[in-house]
Amino acid sequence: MTCDEIKIQLMDFLYNEIKPESERLVRTHLQNCSACRAEYEALSRTSLTLKAWENEDPRLHLVFVRENQSWFGALKEKFFPAEAPAWGKLASLAAGVALGVLLISALLNTEVSFNNGAFTYRTSLLPRGSATIDSQLVAQIQQRLDEKHQKLLLASQQQQRDEFNRTLAKFAAEIDRQRQSDLMLVGRGLNEFQQHTNSRFERNDELLNQFLRSVKLPPQR
Ligand SMILES: [Zn+2]
Repeated sequence: MTCDEIKIQLMDFLYNEIKPESERLVRTHLQNCSACRAEYEALSRTSLTLKAWENEDPRLHLVFVRENQSWFGALKEKFFPAEAPAWGKLASLAAGVALGVLLISALLNTEVSFNNGAFTYRTSLLPRGSATIDSQLVAQIQQRLDEKHQKLLLASQQQQRDEFNRTLAKFAAEIDRQRQSDLMLVGRGLNEFQQHTNSRFERNDELLNQFLRSVKLPPQR
């Protein structure tokens, strides 16, 4: 048999599906022909590899696809795994309840308003009542500030009034002083006038007396 004829039967030989007389011929040829022996060994290795694949645990090649879970089931599996210890489940439950309370509280205290063309979004973890207390407090502070401001304003007005009064008093005093000065001047003037007049009268009297003395009027009857 030629090498080509052997190669054609190598697969059958490998899988023991060859006729007994042909098997003997192939075996003899392989012992003497290194080329065909190499071919056979290559085939044999490939066959072994294939066998190894076939013998592998078929489960390793399976892709496990989770059955469709509801979101609740998925959450439950996430937070309450079947293998979790009891205290872990309890802690998860407590955390879940706390989160729920926070969320509901925030939703209840959420305020959305549309004002002056703008949306106002306000949320709080505290009940609305505390917000009222806050606004009351703010109002009280506002009132106190207003009172303080009012007092300051009044004080300022009082100060302005006092200053005005002082200025007025000073002005009045000045006027008074001026007036008295004027009066004094006027008085002095009058005095001078009087003195002047008196002296004039005195001079007139003197002149008259001189005249009378010189004329020597006859005594009256
Ligand atoms: Zn050969």
